[in-house]
Amino acid sequence: MGGRPDRIVAHFLTSAPTLKECPPPVVPEVAIAGRSNSGKSSVLNQLTRNHHLARTSKTPGRTQLLNFFETNEGGRLVDLPGYGYARVAKSQKRIWEDNVEEYLARRENLIAIVLVMDIRHLFEPFDVMMINWIRQTQLSMHVLLNKADKLRHGAATSALRSAQQRLASPQFSLQLFSALTGVGRDEAIEKLSAWLTPPTS
Ligand code: GDP
Repeated sequence: MGGRPDRIVAHFLTSAPTLKECPPPVVPEVAIAGRSNSGKSSVLNQLTRNHHLARTSKTPGRTQLLNFFETNEGGRLVDLPGYGYARVAKSQKRIWEDNVEEYLARRENLIAIVLVMDIRHLFEPFDVMMINWIRQTQLSMHVLLNKADKLRHGAATSALRSAQQRLASPQFSLQLFSALTGVGRDEAIEKLSAWLTPPTS
């Protein structure tokens, strides 16, 4: 026992289209959200060192579902359905929003959200929508400014500072991340594993 895990060991549990079909809310859940192409799948691969995991979520038929993964910490990671494909019809978008919003608003064992943003394209409309939803709840949000390797150190740091100013509230925490190089990995794993560990009663 003890020591920080060097990865989040995770296995696919099940998928659910709506809140009603979700598995029993018996352990803490941390949901991962991000626009398509933000690198959400690569982040999951980096944190879990399990390439099957994100692939599972990208399997045709599963892309519009909430995908649940059990972890060794005890809690579950929940990969929220992809968002932001330009071709998705308005009606589809509304279904997505309704289902995800219902999960975020009503899931009793959901404790935190990880939001993955591409550091070069921060606060796109989807991100703002997620952040505004979260502000209406008691949930915590950890923001990964992913693809930090694409910017010079100074530019990445100043992007982080200005994002921190914009989200200045104890509800939010932010960090630089690179799914490619592993920058920020330890910090993210520490945050996640603390959330995923059920409280001892
Ligand atoms: P998703 O659609 O959000 O799941 O994004 P993917 O994980 O499929 O990544 C989208 C693209 O961005 C792929 O070409 C990845 O290789 C690339 N990518 C993801 N994370 C990083 C990163 O940290 N740095 C760089 N340079 N590329 C990344």
